[in-house]
Amino acid sequence: MADAVKTQNPAPRVRVQAMKEYHPPLGCRDALRLDFNENTLACSPKVRDVLGQISAGALTRYPEREPVEAIVAAHVGVKAEQLALTNGVDEAIHVLFETFLEAGDELLLPVPTYTMYEVYASATDARIVAVQAAEDLAFPFERLLAAITPRTKIIAIANPNSPAGSVATREQLLALAERAPHAVLLVDEAYYHFHGETLMDLVGTVPNLVVARTFSKAYGLAGLRLGLLAGPVELMRWVRRVLSPYSVNSLALACLPPALDDTEYLDWYVGEVLTARGEFEAVLDVAGVRRWPSRANFVLVEIGAKHEEFVRLMRDAGVLVRDRSSDPGCDGLVRITIGTREQMRQAIPALHSSLAVIRGERDKQ
Ligand code: PMP
Repeated sequence: MADAVKTQNPAPRVRVQAMKEYHPPLGCRDALRLDFNENTLACSPKVRDVLGQISAGALTRYPEREPVEAIVAAHVGVKAEQLALTNGVDEAIHVLFETFLEAGDELLLPVPTYTMYEVYASATDARIVAVQAAEDLAFPFERLLAAITPRTKIIAIANPNSPAGSVATREQLLALAERAPHAVLLVDEAYYHFHGETLMDLVGTVPNLVVARTFSKAYGLAGLRLGLLAGPVELMRWVRRVLSPYSVNSLALACLPPALDDTEYLDWYVGEVLTARGEFEAVLDVAGVRRWPSRANFVLVEIGAKHEEFVRLMRDAGVLVRDRSSDPGCDGLVRITIGTREQMRQAIPALHSSLAVIRGERDKQ
């Protein structure tokens, strides 16, 4: 018998070999979803109606994004050529990094922040320059400014940021853009609707500013995967070369106009979350749980050494929350998404009983 032929699989790029697979803790989420900062209830009923009317024939066509891009551009107040729709903001980040980052470049970002910046950057040949926030997790403006070098190519700022819900001011963001004219300043406004402040009005005026928004949060369309990237035409031209023309599917495109039209529903949901956040923060304060001030639809809380047990106890009580302990500077911290007032009221008994167990005031049930 001939010797077994030694097979060797083709090797990926060295950078990819060094990457870890990122698995967000989804799975078995049949509970109150206070773990992924989604809309916890539903999208607009007008979107549901449109989805129900999509014909089988319509699905046979490739999606055409331009007409919908024009509608979205008008809605956010930019020119159609300044805006690209993407398969979630994740694709916007991925494509932006692929477009601009090469060997020797630096991606500058404050940490802790949204995980996918590091994931996509680590697949490029750029270096990640992470500026650690202080213990209050406030925006580390001065230190970011000081970390800008001639190699800085992208500065990625989530505003509000996750997991703390902290914000940068307009002046701070503009100062970064001005100090690094050779770099793209990405302002990721995923949680814009809960914060109410934006740099979208400066798109096209500030030559290196790019703004991202998602439809996964306030609009409640995380399952459809819809985001947008808006920037000067000169930058967006390069982005479009890398972006797939079909990455936003036709169901998502059909749902965007009714989602944008139903401002009443959006305003209701955002108002509900902001009221619920205030109520829930008051409960945390009475319970003696340290929390970080948030301008988004989540609150970061200090649980301490028993964070894993707390998350498990909450889950057993029907409430999913997100352990952020492994984020830089976040040991013992847990992030809780804010839903409607009614949902947050349902979460309160789970919070109290889980705290009582980890504080040794009550036995496990
Ligand atoms: N940016 C930030 C700051 C986020 O927190 C998230 C989602 N958790 C995203 C982007 C991703 O948004 P999308 O669902 O549109 O990919």
